[in-house]
Amino acid sequence: IFLTFEGIEGVGKSTQIAKLYDYLSVDYPVIQVREPGGTKIGMEIRKILLDPSIQEPFSMFAELFLYAASRAQLMEQVILPALEEGKIILCDRFIDSTIAYQAYGAGVPLQDVLQINRQAIGNHLPNRTYLLDLPISISQERLAARSKGKDRMEQKSEDFHSRVRNGYLALAEDNKERIKLIDATRSKKSIFKEILQDIKSYI
Ligand code: C5P
Repeated sequence: IFLTFEGIEGVGKSTQIAKLYDYLSVDYPVIQVREPGGTKIGMEIRKILLDPSIQEPFSMFAELFLYAASRAQLMEQVILPALEEGKIILCDRFIDSTIAYQAYGAGVPLQDVLQINRQAIGNHLPNRTYLLDLPISISQERLAARSKGKDRMEQKSEDFHSRVRNGYLALAEDNKERIKLIDATRSKKSIFKEILQDIKSYI
């Protein structure tokens, strides 16, 4: 079963994935991966995409292709084999990130995003997607409080992030059977309980 976690920066995706991994791995075969990344090739692509020292602006399509390249590699090398072995896959970001960031955020035509990603992942959509949602102001506060520096995407304007959030909310509205919208202003514990309860109905 293929589960993905989505949302803007600072919503707590990695915290929830780590907790779920610890909990589920006691009884089930589970793997945890993230995007961009999850493979050696993907990690190299991630470095290019997120390096804040790269000053020249990315071509919109160069950026789109690089995210899709990392995704194609992850799909073929990790996700498909794990699915065949009956594992639970917890994936930090996937196709919905690209629709939210590259289409709604950066303005790549949605049709192009969908077409390129179809080549990267075929028909393999996640079985269930947890969208952690936060107002932009809280997300930005949490980012500012982090000790590590901001990556290249995190440095984009509040307006960009606001378009990304709205993109995510539109996706959730259009894919209610797959995407579960979660209010991420609540405590980590109650978010964890809600996600776990939902996952249990799938496994
Ligand atoms: O969640 P994580 O910190 O690993 O995300 C890495 C960065 O990549 C984030 O800043 C996110 O905004 C960006 N990203 C993106 N488009 C995607 C996936 C991630 O801009 N399709």
